Amino acid sequence: MPLPADAECLMDITARPDVVMTRGAGSYLFDEHGRRYLDFIQGWAVNSLGHCPPEVRDALVEQSDRLVAPSPSFYSPPLLALARRLTDLSGLPQVFFTNSGAEANEGAIKLCRKWGKRHRGGAFEIVTAENAFHGRTLATMAASGKPGWDALFPPPVAGFSKVRFGDRDAMARAISSRTVALMVEPIQGEAGVVVPPPGYLRSLRALADEHNLLLVLDEVQTGIGRTGALFAFEDEGIRPDVLTVGKGLGSGVPIGALLATRDAACFEHGDQGGTFNGNPLMTAVGKRVLDAVAEPTFLANVRRTGEHLQRALHDVGPPGSIVEVRGRGLLWALVLSEPAAPRIRDVCMERGLLINAPRPNALRFMPSLRVSADEIDEMATTLREAIAEALVHRFI
Ligand SMILES: *Cc1c(COP(=O)(O)O)cnc(C)c1O
Repeated sequence: MPLPADAECLMDITARPDVVMTRGAGSYLFDEHGRRYLDFIQGWAVNSLGHCPPEVRDALVEQSDRLVAPSPSFYSPPLLALARRLTDLSGLPQVFFTNSGAEANEGAIKLCRKWGKRHRGGAFEIVTAENAFHGRTLATMAASGKPGWDALFPPPVAGFSKVRFGDRDAMARAISSRTVALMVEPIQGEAGVVVPPPGYLRSLRALADEHNLLLVLDEVQTGIGRTGALFAFEDEGIRPDVLTVGKGLGSGVPIGALLATRDAACFEHGDQGGTFNGNPLMTAVGKRVLDAVAEPTFLANVRRTGEHLQRALHDVGPPGSIVEVRGRGLLWALVLSEPAAPRIRDVCMERGLLINAPRPNALRFMPSLRVSADEIDEMATTLREAIAEALVHRFI
């Protein structure tokens, strides 16, 4: 397929397939030629309700008829309604809405530094994890532990130290008088769905309490039902001091949020803001999405279909080709015995299935939270064929 002529106008920031996507419906995406793709990427774990759900359409239509941008300094009904609902559901009473996950994390970092200045004698350092992903602003790149990232765009933002993910004692050793916070993802998404040992978050909560530090959880990928609970921290019976969400909150529209306890929420006038923050159009969508996902029956269904997906993934490759199936809810990775993930991903796309390869030996699955068992079976059948074809190719 030829490259679209207008593609030359776009900054070349990533390799894109030569297709133009024109329509989405539920678990399917369609290109300009009407070709259908079963989508297990869903905008990078973003479309929690699938492509073009009625909730998003209705909220956009109704709200755009009424009020889109009063200015960020005015209250609006959707802003207030989403603030109430999200703080009630998370148990963190203060919220600031953002346009992305990175912006929410950037705000979390600012909040920690402000709190350190106020309460910990100017302590500013945040201990984060190796292979973490917190976003692409300068500070969130510095907070991330993606190999090679510390050498990009020098000088890096100072004030972060990195320890092995899942290792409570390594975190304890990294704490000094300059430390103000511990910051992790409950499950590392971009690293390839890395699940820490049970009790890890609970042990970080205890560590933060013992040293009077803030515990910051980046739930931009794991939050809003993705792991089968509304927030992944619920599974460990703890609550962070600072929480960030993004991706699934808007089910496709750009909205994130920074949440905090009353004590941690120490911004003063002038410290934080932004033109589009809390925009009625996005908060109206966020409210509808949250109402849908927070239903106990919805979350029970995520857990049930998640178990179906887990079982299906165990059975997609010949003996010895699959090392591990790891994840929770509807966020899973398949770890292969060889670095064939990019090739398998490409064969899947040729066969009308969209999956992601976050590591050379790992495939990631993040379908709509409304994915059906039949769609999971269809995915597994195509994946099984693609793995067989990709592995055969290697020997020709
Ligand atoms: C995607 C992601 C981010 C960044 O969110 P953006 O909306 O792309 O800025 C931050 N943290 C985690 C865990 C993510 O998965």
